[in-house]
Amino acid sequence: MLSVQRIAQKSAGRRLRESSLRLASWKRGLATPADPYDVVVIGGGPGGYVAALKAAQLGLRTACVEKRGSLGGTCLNVGCIPSKAMLNNSHIYHQTQHDLKRRGIDVSGVSLNLPVMLQAKDTAVTSLTKGIEFLFKQNKVDYIKGAASFASPTKITVDLLEGGKSEVEAKNFIIATGSEVAPFPGGAIEIDEKQIVSSTGALDLQEVPKKLVVIGGGIIGLEMGSVWSRLGSEVTVVEFLGAIGGFGIDDEVSKNFQRFLTKQGLKFKLNTKVISADKRDGKLYVKTESAKGGKEEELEADVLLVAVGRRPYVNGLNVEAAGVELDNKGRIIIDDQFNTTAKNIKCIGDVTFGPMLAHKAEEEGIAAIEYIKTGHGHVNYHAIPSVVYTHPEVAWVGKTEQELKAAGVQYNVGKFNFSANSRAKTNFETEGFVKIIAEKETDKILGVHIIGPNAGEMISEGVLAIEYGASAEDVARTCHAHPTLSEAFKEACMAAYSKPIHQ
Ligand SMILES: Cc1cc2nc3c(=O)[nH]c(=O)nc-3n(C[C@H](O)[C@H](O)[C@H](O)COP(=O)(O)OP(=O)(O)OC[C@H]3O[C@@H](n4cnc5c(N)ncnc54)[C@H](O)[C@@H]3O)c2cc1C
Repeated sequence: MLSVQRIAQKSAGRRLRESSLRLASWKRGLATPADPYDVVVIGGGPGGYVAALKAAQLGLRTACVEKRGSLGGTCLNVGCIPSKAMLNNSHIYHQTQHDLKRRGIDVSGVSLNLPVMLQAKDTAVTSLTKGIEFLFKQNKVDYIKGAASFASPTKITVDLLEGGKSEVEAKNFIIATGSEVAPFPGGAIEIDEKQIVSSTGALDLQEVPKKLVVIGGGIIGLEMGSVWSRLGSEVTVVEFLGAIGGFGIDDEVSKNFQRFLTKQGLKFKLNTKVISADKRDGKLYVKTESAKGGKEEELEADVLLVAVGRRPYVNGLNVEAAGVELDNKGRIIIDDQFNTTAKNIKCIGDVTFGPMLAHKAEEEGIAAIEYIKTGHGHVNYHAIPSVVYTHPEVAWVGKTEQELKAAGVQYNVGKFNFSANSRAKTNFETEGFVKIIAEKETDKILGVHIIGPNAGEMISEGVLAIEYGASAEDVARTCHAHPTLSEAFKEACMAAYSKPIHQ
Protein backbone atom coordinates (compact mmCIF):
# COMPACT_ATOMS: atom_id res chain seq x y z
CA MET A 1 0.00 0.00 0.00
CA LEU A 2 1.29 3.46 -0.86
CA SER A 3 1.91 5.81 2.03
CA VAL A 4 0.00 9.10 2.18
CA GLN A 5 3.24 10.96 1.48
CA ARG A 6 3.94 8.76 -1.60
CA ILE A 7 0.40 9.38 -2.95
CA ALA A 8 0.88 13.11 -2.46
CA GLN A 9 4.26 12.93 -4.28
CA LYS A 10 2.73 10.92 -7.15
CA SER A 11 -0.15 13.31 -7.62
CA ALA A 12 2.19 16.33 -7.37
CA GLY A 13 4.35 14.69 -10.06
CA ARG A 14 1.28 14.09 -12.25
CA ARG A 15 0.16 17.70 -11.81
CA LEU A 16 3.63 18.91 -12.81
CA ARG A 17 3.65 16.64 -15.92
CA GLU A 18 0.14 17.82 -16.87
CA SER A 19 1.16 21.41 -16.39
CA SER A 20 4.28 20.92 -18.58
CA LEU A 21 2.24 19.19 -21.28
CA ARG A 22 -0.34 21.94 -21.19
CA LEU A 23 2.36 24.58 -21.49
CA ALA A 24 4.02 22.68 -24.36
CA SER A 25 0.71 22.64 -26.25
CA TRP A 26 0.30 26.32 -25.45
CA LYS A 27 3.60 27.07 -27.06
CA ARG A 28 2.43 25.28 -30.22
CA GLY A 29 -0.67 27.50 -30.07
CA LEU A 30 -3.04 24.54 -29.98
CA ALA A 31 -4.59 23.92 -26.68
CA THR A 32 -7.16 25.15 -24.25
CA PRO A 33 -6.31 23.92 -20.75
CA ALA A 34 -8.78 21.46 -19.28
CA ASP A 35 -9.35 23.27 -15.97
CA PRO A 36 -9.41 26.97 -15.37
CA TYR A 37 -6.40 28.32 -13.48
CA ASP A 38 -7.01 29.61 -9.96
CA VAL A 39 -5.26 32.86 -10.93
CA VAL A 40 -4.07 34.30 -14.22
CA VAL A 41 -2.02 37.49 -13.98
CA ILE A 42 -1.92 39.71 -17.08
CA GLY A 43 1.41 41.55 -17.20
CA GLY A 44 4.79 40.40 -15.88
CA GLY A 45 6.02 43.69 -14.37
CA PRO A 46 6.84 44.15 -10.65
CA GLY A 47 3.13 44.12 -9.82
CA GLY A 48 2.26 41.11 -11.98
CA TYR A 49 5.28 38.85 -11.44
CA VAL A 50 5.20 39.36 -7.65
CA ALA A 51 1.45 38.60 -7.61
CA ALA A 52 2.04 35.42 -9.65
CA LEU A 53 4.84 34.23 -7.34
CA LYS A 54 2.78 34.96 -4.22
CA ALA A 55 -0.24 33.12 -5.67
CA ALA A 56 1.87 30.05 -6.44
CA GLN A 57 3.47 30.17 -2.99
CA LEU A 58 -0.02 30.13 -1.46
CA GLY A 59 -0.86 26.97 -3.43
CA LEU A 60 -2.95 28.55 -6.20
CA ARG A 61 -2.55 27.18 -9.73
CA THR A 62 -1.15 30.23 -11.48
CA ALA A 63 -0.17 31.55 -14.90
CA CYS A 64 1.31 34.90 -15.89
CA VAL A 65 0.82 36.29 -19.41
CA GLU A 66 3.45 38.74 -20.66
CA LYS A 67 3.73 40.09 -24.18
CA ARG A 68 7.12 41.83 -24.03
CA GLY A 69 9.17 38.66 -24.46
CA SER A 70 10.91 39.20 -21.13
CA LEU A 71 9.64 39.48 -17.57
CA GLY A 72 10.02 42.44 -15.20
CA GLY A 73 7.89 44.99 -17.07
CA THR A 74 8.80 48.63 -17.43
CA CYS A 75 10.84 48.51 -14.22
CA LEU A 76 13.39 45.89 -15.21
CA ASN A 77 13.45 46.43 -18.96
CA VAL A 78 13.25 50.20 -19.53
CA GLY A 79 12.78 51.79 -16.10
CA CYS A 80 14.19 51.43 -12.59
CA ILE A 81 16.98 48.99 -13.35
CA PRO A 82 18.58 50.36 -16.54
CA SER A 83 18.28 53.92 -15.21
CA LYS A 84 19.99 52.96 -11.94
CA ALA A 85 22.75 51.15 -13.85
CA MET A 86 23.41 54.33 -15.86
CA LEU A 87 23.17 56.53 -12.75
CA ASN A 88 25.63 54.37 -10.83
CA ASN A 89 28.20 54.05 -13.60
CA SER A 90 27.97 57.67 -14.76
CA HIS A 91 28.49 58.71 -11.11
CA ILE A 92 31.63 56.57 -10.87
CA TYR A 93 32.92 58.10 -14.12
CA HIS A 94 32.19 61.64 -12.91
CA GLN A 95 33.68 60.98 -9.47
CA THR A 96 36.80 59.45 -11.00
CA GLN A 97 37.29 62.58 -13.07
CA HIS A 98 36.44 65.22 -10.50
CA ASP A 99 36.59 63.85 -6.98
CA LEU A 100 39.47 61.40 -6.58
CA LYS A 101 42.40 63.80 -6.37
CA ARG A 102 41.43 65.20 -2.97
CA ARG A 103 41.12 61.61 -1.69
CA GLY A 104 44.74 60.91 -2.56
CA ILE A 105 44.01 58.94 -5.69
CA ASP A 106 45.74 60.16 -8.82
CA VAL A 107 44.39 58.81 -12.05
CA SER A 108 45.08 59.83 -15.60
CA GLY A 109 43.77 58.97 -19.02
CA VAL A 110 40.18 58.56 -17.80
CA SER A 111 37.83 58.31 -20.74
CA LEU A 112 34.30 57.22 -21.39
CA ASN A 113 33.56 53.98 -23.21
CA LEU A 114 29.85 54.52 -23.78
CA PRO A 115 29.18 51.23 -25.65
CA VAL A 116 30.59 49.28 -22.68
CA MET A 117 28.58 51.38 -20.19
CA LEU A 118 25.42 50.65 -22.19
CA GLN A 119 26.37 46.97 -22.34
CA ALA A 120 26.83 46.88 -18.55
CA LYS A 121 23.30 48.25 -18.21
CA ASP A 122 21.96 45.58 -20.59
CA THR A 123 23.79 42.84 -18.70
CA ALA A 124 22.14 43.93 -15.43
CA VAL A 125 18.72 43.93 -17.12
CA THR A 126 19.15 40.48 -18.70
CA SER A 127 20.40 38.84 -15.53
CA LEU A 128 17.46 40.20 -13.54
CA THR A 129 14.75 39.35 -16.10
CA LYS A 130 16.16 35.82 -16.45
CA GLY A 131 16.16 35.62 -12.64
CA ILE A 132 12.39 36.09 -12.61
CA GLU A 133 11.96 33.36 -15.21
CA PHE A 134 13.94 31.10 -12.89
CA LEU A 135 11.68 32.05 -9.94
CA PHE A 136 8.61 31.25 -12.07
CA LYS A 137 10.00 27.77 -12.78
CA GLN A 138 10.98 27.26 -9.15
CA ASN A 139 7.50 28.22 -7.95
CA LYS A 140 5.68 26.46 -10.83
CA VAL A 141 4.10 29.55 -12.33
CA ASP A 142 3.15 28.91 -15.98
CA TYR A 143 4.72 31.67 -18.07
CA ILE A 144 2.62 32.35 -21.15
CA LYS A 145 4.39 34.55 -23.67
CA GLY A 146 1.86 36.63 -25.59
CA ALA A 147 -0.69 39.45 -25.55
CA ALA A 148 -3.86 38.85 -23.55
CA SER A 149 -7.26 40.12 -24.55
CA PHE A 150 -10.51 39.49 -22.64
CA ALA A 151 -13.02 37.29 -24.47
CA SER A 152 -15.37 37.25 -21.46
CA PRO A 153 -15.09 37.92 -17.69
CA THR A 154 -13.66 34.41 -17.19
CA LYS A 155 -11.66 33.89 -20.37
CA ILE A 156 -8.81 35.58 -22.24
CA THR A 157 -7.44 34.99 -25.71
CA VAL A 158 -3.66 35.08 -25.91
CA ASP A 159 -1.92 36.07 -29.12
CA LEU A 160 1.16 33.93 -28.61
CA LEU A 161 4.57 35.46 -29.42
CA GLU A 162 5.54 32.22 -31.13
CA GLY A 163 2.45 32.41 -33.36
CA GLY A 164 -1.08 31.14 -32.95
CA LYS A 165 -3.73 31.93 -30.39
CA SER A 166 -4.90 30.22 -27.24
CA GLU A 167 -7.72 30.63 -24.81
CA VAL A 168 -7.10 30.64 -21.08
CA GLU A 169 -9.76 30.40 -18.42
CA ALA A 170 -9.33 31.42 -14.82
CA LYS A 171 -11.33 31.67 -11.63
CA ASN A 172 -9.54 34.96 -10.92
CA PHE A 173 -7.72 37.45 -13.11
CA ILE A 174 -5.29 40.13 -11.97
CA ILE A 175 -4.76 42.97 -14.44
CA ALA A 176 -1.22 44.35 -14.09
CA THR A 177 -0.65 45.85 -17.53
CA GLY A 178 1.23 48.89 -16.24
CA SER A 179 1.80 52.18 -17.99
CA GLU A 180 3.38 53.74 -21.06
CA VAL A 181 5.19 57.00 -21.80
CA ALA A 182 2.76 59.92 -21.96
CA PRO A 183 3.13 61.78 -25.25
CA PHE A 184 3.80 65.53 -25.37
CA PRO A 185 0.42 67.21 -24.70
CA GLY A 186 -1.40 68.29 -27.87
CA GLY A 187 0.90 66.22 -30.09
CA ALA A 188 3.09 69.22 -31.11
CA ILE A 189 6.26 67.16 -30.46
CA GLU A 190 6.56 63.59 -31.67
CA ILE A 191 8.91 61.12 -30.02
CA ASP A 192 11.13 59.28 -32.56
CA GLU A 193 13.40 57.67 -29.88
CA LYS A 194 16.47 58.94 -31.77
CA GLN A 195 16.67 62.71 -31.49
CA ILE A 196 13.41 63.32 -29.63
CA VAL A 197 13.38 60.62 -27.00
CA SER A 198 11.34 59.32 -24.09
CA SER A 199 13.09 57.81 -21.06
CA THR A 200 13.40 54.59 -23.10
CA GLY A 201 15.46 56.31 -25.82
CA ALA A 202 17.38 58.34 -23.24
CA LEU A 203 18.63 55.08 -21.74
CA ASP A 204 20.11 54.02 -25.04
CA LEU A 205 21.67 57.09 -26.69
CA GLN A 206 24.64 55.88 -28.70
CA GLU A 207 26.63 59.07 -28.24
CA VAL A 208 26.72 61.81 -25.64
CA PRO A 209 24.63 64.73 -26.91
CA LYS A 210 26.44 68.08 -26.75
CA LYS A 211 23.23 69.79 -25.67
CA LEU A 212 20.33 67.97 -24.06
CA VAL A 213 17.03 69.68 -23.28
CA VAL A 214 14.75 67.85 -20.86
CA ILE A 215 11.05 68.65 -20.75
CA GLY A 216 9.92 67.93 -17.19
CA GLY A 217 11.75 68.37 -13.89
CA GLY A 218 10.18 65.29 -12.26
CA ILE A 219 12.06 62.22 -11.06
CA ILE A 220 12.71 60.65 -14.48
CA GLY A 221 13.78 63.96 -16.09
CA LEU A 222 16.22 64.71 -13.26
CA GLU A 223 17.70 61.20 -13.18
CA MET A 224 18.25 61.08 -16.93
CA GLY A 225 19.45 64.71 -16.99
CA SER A 226 22.01 63.83 -14.29
CA VAL A 227 23.28 60.80 -16.22
CA TRP A 228 23.99 62.72 -19.43
CA SER A 229 25.29 65.80 -17.62
CA ARG A 230 27.87 63.62 -15.84
CA LEU A 231 28.85 62.07 -19.16
CA GLY A 232 29.45 65.52 -20.68
CA SER A 233 26.17 67.00 -21.99
CA GLU A 234 25.08 70.56 -21.38
CA VAL A 235 21.68 69.88 -19.81
CA THR A 236 18.77 72.32 -19.56
CA VAL A 237 15.64 71.20 -17.73
CA VAL A 238 12.43 73.02 -18.62
CA GLU A 239 9.71 72.70 -15.99
CA PHE A 240 6.19 74.15 -16.11
CA LEU A 241 5.92 74.36 -12.32
CA GLY A 242 7.95 76.61 -10.04
CA ALA A 243 9.88 73.74 -8.40
CA ILE A 244 11.66 70.52 -9.34
CA GLY A 245 11.32 66.96 -8.00
CA GLY A 246 7.71 66.22 -8.93
CA PHE A 247 4.69 65.41 -6.83
CA GLY A 248 5.15 64.91 -3.09
CA ILE A 249 8.56 66.55 -2.61
CA ASP A 250 8.94 68.93 0.35
CA ASP A 251 9.42 72.56 -0.78
CA GLU A 252 12.58 73.06 1.30
CA VAL A 253 14.11 69.86 -0.08
CA SER A 254 13.21 70.84 -3.64
CA LYS A 255 14.96 74.23 -3.33
CA ASN A 256 18.14 72.63 -1.99
CA PHE A 257 17.95 69.89 -4.61
CA GLN A 258 17.87 72.50 -7.39
CA ARG A 259 20.81 74.30 -5.79
CA PHE A 260 22.93 71.10 -5.67
CA LEU A 261 22.11 70.09 -9.24
CA THR A 262 22.82 73.63 -10.48
CA LYS A 263 26.24 73.40 -8.83
CA GLN A 264 26.80 70.20 -10.83
CA GLY A 265 26.12 72.10 -14.06
CA LEU A 266 22.45 71.44 -14.83
CA LYS A 267 20.46 74.52 -15.90
CA PHE A 268 16.83 75.01 -14.95
CA LYS A 269 14.06 77.01 -16.57
CA LEU A 270 11.15 76.89 -14.15
CA ASN A 271 7.64 78.30 -14.69
CA THR A 272 8.32 77.70 -18.36
CA LYS A 273 6.47 75.66 -20.93
CA VAL A 274 7.72 74.10 -24.14
CA ILE A 275 5.56 74.90 -27.14
CA SER A 276 7.30 73.17 -30.04
CA ALA A 277 10.53 71.63 -31.33
CA ASP A 278 11.70 72.16 -34.92
CA LYS A 279 14.39 70.16 -36.66
CA ARG A 280 16.79 72.26 -38.77
CA ASP A 281 20.16 71.12 -40.16
CA GLY A 282 20.40 68.17 -37.80
CA LYS A 283 19.71 70.31 -34.71
CA LEU A 284 16.58 70.81 -32.67
CA TYR A 285 15.21 74.23 -31.80
CA VAL A 286 12.96 74.05 -28.78
CA LYS A 287 10.56 76.95 -28.40
CA THR A 288 9.50 77.88 -24.86
CA GLU A 289 7.36 80.56 -23.26
CA SER A 290 6.72 81.53 -19.68
CA ALA A 291 4.04 79.38 -18.00
CA LYS A 292 1.77 82.41 -17.72
CA GLY A 293 2.27 83.22 -21.43
CA GLY A 294 4.63 85.64 -23.16
CA LYS A 295 8.47 85.82 -22.95
CA GLU A 296 9.36 83.38 -25.72
CA GLU A 297 12.78 81.79 -26.02
CA GLU A 298 14.45 79.26 -28.33
CA LEU A 299 16.81 76.59 -26.96
CA GLU A 300 19.18 74.70 -29.22
CA ALA A 301 19.48 70.98 -28.58
CA ASP A 302 21.07 67.88 -30.09
CA VAL A 303 18.63 65.67 -28.22
CA LEU A 304 15.30 66.47 -26.59
CA LEU A 305 14.00 64.26 -23.79
CA VAL A 306 10.23 64.34 -23.27
CA ALA A 307 9.69 63.36 -19.62
CA VAL A 308 6.18 64.63 -18.94
CA GLY A 309 4.88 61.53 -17.19
CA ARG A 310 3.34 58.14 -17.88
CA ARG A 311 -0.22 56.98 -18.49
CA PRO A 312 -2.10 53.73 -17.74
CA TYR A 313 -1.85 51.07 -20.42
CA VAL A 314 -4.80 48.87 -21.50
CA ASN A 315 -4.26 48.74 -25.28
CA GLY A 316 -5.62 45.55 -26.84
CA LEU A 317 -6.84 44.19 -23.50
CA ASN A 318 -10.50 44.52 -24.54
CA VAL A 319 -11.59 45.36 -21.00
CA GLU A 320 -15.14 46.05 -22.24
CA ALA A 321 -15.67 42.32 -22.87
CA ALA A 322 -15.00 41.69 -19.18
CA GLY A 323 -17.03 44.62 -17.85
CA VAL A 324 -13.94 46.37 -16.43
CA GLU A 325 -14.44 50.15 -16.31
CA LEU A 326 -11.91 53.00 -16.56
CA ASP A 327 -12.05 56.50 -15.08
CA ASN A 328 -11.63 59.69 -17.12
CA LYS A 329 -7.82 59.45 -16.82
CA GLY A 330 -7.80 55.95 -18.34
CA ARG A 331 -7.09 54.24 -14.98
CA ILE A 332 -8.88 51.00 -14.17
CA ILE A 333 -11.37 51.68 -11.39
CA ILE A 334 -10.89 49.56 -8.27
CA ASP A 335 -12.22 49.43 -4.71
CA ASP A 336 -10.06 49.15 -1.58
CA GLN A 337 -9.60 45.41 -2.13
CA PHE A 338 -8.34 45.84 -5.71
CA ASN A 339 -11.67 44.61 -7.20
CA THR A 340 -12.48 46.09 -10.58
CA THR A 341 -16.08 46.60 -11.66
CA ALA A 342 -16.05 42.96 -12.92
CA LYS A 343 -16.44 40.00 -10.56
CA ASN A 344 -13.22 38.07 -9.82
CA ILE A 345 -11.05 40.51 -11.78
CA LYS A 346 -8.64 42.53 -9.65
CA CYS A 347 -6.19 45.19 -10.76
CA ILE A 348 -2.87 46.48 -9.38
CA GLY A 349 0.11 48.71 -10.21
CA ASP A 350 0.56 51.60 -12.63
CA VAL A 351 -2.64 50.84 -14.56
CA THR A 352 -4.78 51.86 -11.59
CA PHE A 353 -4.78 54.60 -8.91
CA GLY A 354 -1.82 55.75 -6.82
CA PRO A 355 1.84 56.58 -7.39
CA MET A 356 3.47 54.88 -10.38
CA LEU A 357 6.21 53.10 -8.43
CA ALA A 358 7.52 49.55 -8.65
CA HIS A 359 7.42 48.89 -4.90
CA LYS A 360 3.81 50.16 -4.69
CA ALA A 361 2.87 47.71 -7.49
CA GLU A 362 4.65 44.87 -5.65
CA GLU A 363 2.85 45.57 -2.36
CA GLU A 364 -0.47 45.59 -4.20
CA GLY A 365 0.39 42.33 -5.98
CA ILE A 366 0.87 40.53 -2.67
CA ALA A 367 -2.18 42.09 -1.02
CA ALA A 368 -4.47 41.30 -4.00
CA ILE A 369 -3.48 37.63 -3.86
CA GLU A 370 -3.95 37.52 -0.09
CA TYR A 371 -7.46 38.90 -0.56
CA ILE A 372 -8.18 36.04 -3.01
CA LYS A 373 -6.72 33.36 -0.77
CA THR A 374 -7.59 34.57 2.74
CA GLY A 375 -9.97 37.53 2.38
CA HIS A 376 -7.42 39.89 4.00
CA GLY A 377 -4.68 42.08 2.58
CA HIS A 378 -2.75 45.21 3.52
CA VAL A 379 -1.12 48.18 1.77
CA ASN A 380 -0.44 51.35 3.77
CA TYR A 381 -0.57 54.15 1.22
CA HIS A 382 0.70 56.64 3.85
CA ALA A 383 3.97 54.75 4.06
CA ILE A 384 5.11 54.43 0.44
CA PRO A 385 8.56 55.96 -0.04
CA SER A 386 9.72 57.95 -3.07
CA VAL A 387 13.38 58.12 -4.09
CA VAL A 388 15.28 60.17 -6.67
CA TYR A 389 18.54 58.36 -7.38
CA THR A 390 20.59 61.42 -8.27
CA HIS A 391 23.68 62.51 -6.35
CA PRO A 392 22.91 63.40 -3.66
CA GLU A 393 19.87 61.18 -3.45
CA VAL A 394 16.51 62.52 -2.38
CA ALA A 395 13.96 60.41 -0.53
CA TRP A 396 10.76 60.99 1.35
CA VAL A 397 7.80 59.30 2.98
CA GLY A 398 4.63 60.72 4.53
CA LYS A 399 3.53 64.34 4.65
CA THR A 400 5.37 67.46 3.54
CA GLU A 401 5.39 70.69 5.52
CA GLN A 402 3.28 72.40 2.86
CA GLU A 403 0.65 69.63 3.05
CA LEU A 404 0.43 69.85 6.84
CA LYS A 405 0.19 73.65 6.73
CA ALA A 406 -2.65 73.42 4.20
CA ALA A 407 -4.44 70.88 6.43
CA GLY A 408 -3.98 73.08 9.53
CA VAL A 409 -1.99 70.41 11.41
CA GLN A 410 0.36 71.65 14.15
CA TYR A 411 3.81 70.12 13.88
CA ASN A 412 7.45 70.29 14.98
CA VAL A 413 10.38 70.04 12.59
CA GLY A 414 13.70 68.42 13.52
CA LYS A 415 16.55 68.88 11.05
CA PHE A 416 20.08 67.56 11.06
CA ASN A 417 22.66 68.52 8.44
CA PHE A 418 25.02 65.91 7.02
CA SER A 419 27.79 68.50 7.45
CA ALA A 420 27.60 67.67 11.19
CA ASN A 421 27.53 63.88 10.69
CA SER A 422 30.86 62.14 11.26
CA ARG A 423 30.51 59.53 8.50
CA ALA A 424 29.41 62.11 5.93
CA LYS A 425 32.38 64.29 6.86
CA THR A 426 34.76 61.32 6.66
CA ASN A 427 33.42 60.49 3.20
CA PHE A 428 33.50 64.14 1.99
CA GLU A 429 29.77 63.89 1.29
CA THR A 430 28.26 66.58 3.46
CA GLU A 431 25.56 68.07 1.24
CA GLY A 432 22.00 67.82 2.50
CA PHE A 433 20.02 67.01 5.63
CA VAL A 434 17.46 64.77 7.30
CA LYS A 435 14.19 66.49 8.16
CA ILE A 436 11.66 64.92 10.49
CA ILE A 437 8.16 66.33 10.80
CA ALA A 438 6.30 65.23 13.94
CA GLU A 439 2.81 66.06 15.19
CA LYS A 440 3.09 68.81 17.82
CA GLU A 441 0.75 67.26 20.37
CA THR A 442 1.78 63.61 20.15
CA ASP A 443 5.31 63.72 18.64
CA LYS A 444 4.15 61.07 16.14
CA ILE A 445 6.27 61.13 12.96
CA LEU A 446 4.17 62.38 10.04
CA GLY A 447 6.84 62.90 7.39
CA VAL A 448 10.51 62.14 6.72
CA HIS A 449 12.48 64.03 4.05
CA ILE A 450 16.11 63.29 3.28
CA ILE A 451 18.46 64.87 0.78
CA GLY A 452 21.95 63.48 1.01
CA PRO A 453 24.18 60.44 0.58
CA ASN A 454 22.32 57.10 0.64
CA ALA A 455 18.96 58.80 1.25
CA GLY A 456 17.27 56.00 -0.70
CA GLU A 457 18.54 53.35 1.73
CA MET A 458 18.00 55.47 4.82
CA ILE A 459 14.35 56.27 4.06
CA SER A 460 13.39 52.71 5.08
CA GLU A 461 13.84 53.74 8.71
CA GLY A 462 11.25 56.48 8.13
CA VAL A 463 8.89 54.02 6.44
CA LEU A 464 9.14 51.66 9.40
CA ALA A 465 8.60 54.52 11.86
CA ILE A 466 5.47 55.70 10.05
CA GLU A 467 4.15 52.13 9.57
CA TYR A 468 4.39 51.47 13.31
CA GLY A 469 3.23 54.94 14.40
CA ALA A 470 6.58 55.78 16.10
CA SER A 471 7.19 59.13 17.76
CA ALA A 472 10.36 61.13 17.06
CA GLU A 473 11.46 60.30 20.62
CA ASP A 474 10.95 56.54 19.98
CA VAL A 475 13.44 56.69 17.11
CA ALA A 476 15.80 59.08 18.91
CA ARG A 477 16.05 56.61 21.81
CA THR A 478 16.97 53.75 19.43
CA CYS A 479 20.69 53.01 19.28
CA HIS A 480 22.22 53.76 15.86
CA ALA A 481 25.63 52.42 14.92
CA HIS A 482 28.58 54.82 14.85
CA PRO A 483 29.90 56.11 12.53
CA THR A 484 26.95 55.87 10.12
CA LEU A 485 24.93 58.29 8.05
CA SER A 486 21.87 56.98 9.87
CA GLU A 487 23.01 58.82 13.00
CA ALA A 488 21.80 61.95 11.16
CA PHE A 489 18.35 60.35 11.20
CA LYS A 490 18.51 59.80 14.96
CA GLU A 491 19.77 63.35 15.56
CA ALA A 492 16.99 64.85 13.39
CA CYS A 493 14.49 62.93 15.56
CA MET A 494 16.22 64.32 18.67
CA ALA A 495 15.91 67.79 17.16
CA ALA A 496 12.17 67.26 16.60
CA TYR A 497 11.33 66.58 20.25
CA SER A 498 14.31 68.08 22.08
CA LYS A 499 17.83 68.97 20.90
CA PRO A 500 20.42 67.17 18.79
CA ILE A 501 23.78 66.43 20.39
CA HIS A 502 26.17 67.20 17.55
CA GLN A 503 24.68 70.35 16.01
C1 LIG B 1 12.94 55.49 -16.64
C2 LIG B 1 12.10 54.98 -15.49
C3 LIG B 1 12.68 54.85 -14.25
C4 LIG B 1 11.92 54.36 -13.19
N1 LIG B 1 12.53 54.24 -11.97
C5 LIG B 1 11.82 53.78 -10.93
C6 LIG B 1 12.45 53.59 -9.67
O1 LIG B 1 13.64 53.85 -9.51
N2 LIG B 1 11.71 53.10 -8.65
C7 LIG B 1 10.38 52.80 -8.81
O2 LIG B 1 9.74 52.37 -7.84
N3 LIG B 1 9.75 52.96 -9.99
C8 LIG B 1 10.44 53.43 -11.06
N4 LIG B 1 9.83 53.55 -12.27
C9 LIG B 1 8.40 53.20 -12.38
C10 LIG B 1 8.21 51.67 -12.45
O3 LIG B 1 8.91 51.19 -13.56
C11 LIG B 1 6.73 51.34 -12.57
O4 LIG B 1 6.02 51.95 -11.53
C12 LIG B 1 6.52 49.83 -12.48
O5 LIG B 1 7.20 49.17 -13.52
C13 LIG B 1 5.02 49.50 -12.55
O6 LIG B 1 4.85 48.12 -12.47
P1 LIG B 1 3.57 47.39 -13.09
O7 LIG B 1 3.75 45.96 -12.81
O8 LIG B 1 2.34 48.07 -12.65
O9 LIG B 1 3.65 47.66 -14.67
P2 LIG B 1 4.79 47.49 -15.74
O10 LIG B 1 6.12 47.39 -15.13
O11 LIG B 1 4.56 48.56 -16.75
O12 LIG B 1 4.51 46.06 -16.39
C14 LIG B 1 3.37 45.80 -17.13
C15 LIG B 1 3.67 44.67 -18.09
O13 LIG B 1 2.44 44.24 -18.66
C16 LIG B 1 2.67 43.87 -19.99
N5 LIG B 1 1.40 43.91 -20.72
C17 LIG B 1 0.65 45.01 -20.99
N6 LIG B 1 -0.48 44.67 -21.63
C18 LIG B 1 -0.44 43.33 -21.77
C19 LIG B 1 -1.31 42.37 -22.35
N7 LIG B 1 -2.47 42.73 -22.90
N8 LIG B 1 -0.95 41.07 -22.34
C20 LIG B 1 0.23 40.68 -21.78
N9 LIG B 1 1.10 41.54 -21.21
C21 LIG B 1 0.75 42.84 -21.20
C22 LIG B 1 3.70 44.87 -20.48
O14 LIG B 1 4.41 44.37 -21.59
C23 LIG B 1 4.56 45.07 -19.25
O15 LIG B 1 5.71 44.28 -19.29
C24 LIG B 1 10.56 54.01 -13.37
C25 LIG B 1 9.98 54.13 -14.64
C26 LIG B 1 10.73 54.60 -15.68
C27 LIG B 1 10.09 54.70 -17.04
